[in-house]
Amino acid sequence: MTLGSVPPKFKVSIDRDQCMDCGRCIENCSYGVYRREGDKILIESRKCTGCLRCVAMCPRDAITLTEKPIDYRSHPLWTREVREDIIKQARSGKIILSGMGNARDLPVIYDRLLLDACQVTNPSIDPLREPMELRTYIGKKPSKLNFRKTESGDVELETKLAPNLKLNTPIMIGHMSFGAISLNAQLSMAKAVTELGTYMGTGEGGLHRDLYPYQDHMIVQVASGRFGVNIDYLERGAAIEIKIGQGAKPGIGGHLPGEKVNEEVSRTRMIPVGSDAISPAPHHDIYSIEDLVQLIRSLKEATEWKKPVFVKIAAVHNVAPIAAGIARSSADAVVIDGFRGGTGAAPKVFRDNVGIPIEVAIASVDQKLREQGVRNEISIIASGGIRSSADLAKSIALGADAVNIGTAALVALGCRVCGNCYRNLCPWGIATQRPELVSRLDPERGAVQVSNLIRGWTMELSELMGAAGINSIESLRGNRDRLRGYMLDEGMLKILDVLPAGA
Ligand code: SF4
Ligand code: SF4
Repeated sequence: MTLGSVPPKFKVSIDRDQCMDCGRCIENCSYGVYRREGDKILIESRKCTGCLRCVAMCPRDAITLTEKPIDYRSHPLWTREVREDIIKQARSGKIILSGMGNARDLPVIYDRLLLDACQVTNPSIDPLREPMELRTYIGKKPSKLNFRKTESGDVELETKLAPNLKLNTPIMIGHMSFGAISLNAQLSMAKAVTELGTYMGTGEGGLHRDLYPYQDHMIVQVASGRFGVNIDYLERGAAIEIKIGQGAKPGIGGHLPGEKVNEEVSRTRMIPVGSDAISPAPHHDIYSIEDLVQLIRSLKEATEWKKPVFVKIAAVHNVAPIAAGIARSSADAVVIDGFRGGTGAAPKVFRDNVGIPIEVAIASVDQKLREQGVRNEISIIASGGIRSSADLAKSIALGADAVNIGTAALVALGCRVCGNCYRNLCPWGIATQRPELVSRLDPERGAVQVSNLIRGWTMELSELMGAAGINSIESLRGNRDRLRGYMLDEGMLKILDVLPAGA
């Protein structure tokens, strides 16, 4: 007996009176929804992923997409999604893969945090007329500065400063590897961060030679599979990140489906063409903080102690003590990835169920590091579901030094968050290696869109800070007094160390 088919997620229809039969829908849909038969364009709605490429490209606005045209009989427990997952697994006997971040309809803490503004008794600052300091330094800060007098009578700094990354805006782009995304997507972002004076990550996919001109703005990554890692790669990066975990799949390694591993990806990652690249769950040389210290020091030694080394972890239940250990490990920054962090491919059960929200992770880590007197030892970089300048400002007020964005940068490149990144068919040329699809993304145009986004957020951050009477990012960092919780319970307010609205 067969399980039959499941109801389609989308119904695609063409307004035949508007349609001029140009065939752009057929050309643009990489999932094969449209085909021509005789003089008619036929539609197979069942294949539609809701990527909206056809809608965007139709010159006559003739295409309409309806979500869930036929649904299952409604049930609060046995939802459509639950039933479809069971049917999929009854057919395949496999793990269900998914792309992008946690898709469950859980409350977003950022939306229940409200920012402060000055009124009457304390003046706001106008960023259009007064300077705002948004420069952010990522790395260790000295607890005090010692100076000495030279023989000529000049004063010289005696304290040896650790290498820091200087960011013109507290927004970086997180690690998305070549393989998971296309070279044109990486190039777009590399051009943008170089122009803006910030940084992006290479992901665990090595550094393609076309990105060498932007290497001073790239953070190279050492993950458990060590793909693409050699001394040349380490030396090219502005900083090095050791990836222990990822918000979308804490506790397991990266997964690049074999169909995305073409010749170029294979050369850059140093893996065979067509093979699934599955990184081990742990680093096989890290079983304790002491082991982590050894790896950090080896990487620093190999690069002559010139580069900051970051450690990226997923936000999990005991994130605060883990971060405190990392702060003592000689790392320069801890990157914390919340459970809404995106991914090219992750088991859906991990993406939707493992880890904790980034908001609580930032607050508890910042608090723990302050309590233990090691906050200056390490910077906090927050990532995982940062959608706007408001999320950015709230992250910094909760205690982050800077944020990494991922999905937001992809949306600026055209991504419609359809969640099919693992299929190598991204019609926007982002999460694919197919040359005919990659060529749809122009890196020059992509760079303008990504830099526009970061510039816009930076301006909004200045405005939000100015309205709160703050003219320096240093004064916003960890300043939870400028936040109030709305519709958050007492336990959550306590963890966030934020007062309720009205208090
Ligand atoms: S998959 Fe995308 S391009 Fe194809 S029909 Fe659906 S929305 Fe249009
Ligand atoms: S990158 Fe492409 S495949 Fe992935 S969610 Fe965005 S539009 Fe869909």
